[in-house]
Amino acid sequence: MAQYTQRPMRFLENLIQSISESVLPTACIVCQQYQSASICNQCLLMIYHNSLLHYECCYQCGIPLLATEINQQHCNTCIAQAPSFDQTICLDCYDGPLQEALHQFKYQKRLAYAHGLSEVWNAALASEIDDRSIDYLLPVPLSQKKLLARGFNQSWELAKRIQCGSHIQKLPYALKRFHHVEHQAAKNYSARRHDIRQMFYIDTKDIKRLDGKSVAVFDDVMTSGATLNEIARTLKMIGVARVSNWVLLRTTKLGI
Ligand SMILES: [Zn+2]
Ligand SMILES: [Zn+2]
Repeated sequence: MAQYTQRPMRFLENLIQSISESVLPTACIVCQQYQSASICNQCLLMIYHNSLLHYECCYQCGIPLLATEINQQHCNTCIAQAPSFDQTICLDCYDGPLQEALHQFKYQKRLAYAHGLSEVWNAALASEIDDRSIDYLLPVPLSQKKLLARGFNQSWELAKRIQCGSHIQKLPYALKRFHHVEHQAAKNYSARRHDIRQMFYIDTKDIKRLDGKSVAVFDDVMTSGATLNEIARTLKMIGVARVSNWVLLRTTKLGI
């Protein structure tokens, strides 16, 4: 009798162990030191003190400001041609300590890193964001092709784990993407801007509820801002009143 009851027990133990190994991190996502949390206190403090939070950044696009731009709170690019979004909040710069963790998550498909990255967001940034006026949180969608290849939308995997006011409704499928632009990274800003135009649309069932509302759009990486600009333009066309970008990592021209 014992052998019959033991078998499912062992199967269950093995299952739990293999799930734990694949889902729960056993090392800090930054320094790889073994410890119980997904990021160690030392790395968390280092990220917190060096993050973009502590730089004077453009209110609208989140880029660190030059000394000559600080008084105006906006970078010269946004002043010359204002983007469609109203505000950008970024956790850290792309070339910082979280880049490798993001790559492990996105390209090695290690979902445990989504947990660690969102923990950094929650510990370092969540309480710094005044989200009282935000009504909805929308992740940047992937093209169907990319979604099938990767198996998950990295922006949604992060967005669903980040802490925000309980009044904010997370809508993973409201924002849709028509198709994917090939070799986007190789193109210059104006070419990308042209290609990306009319790439997004809003699910018809969500158009009415977004009217007059304030929306936060979540992206894992912001580079030129062309994608987020097009999303904001699309959202405002259907009546969204205000668009904020919440971004995990941002490339910066200053290379900090
Ligand atoms: Zn660490
Ligand atoms: Zn700017």
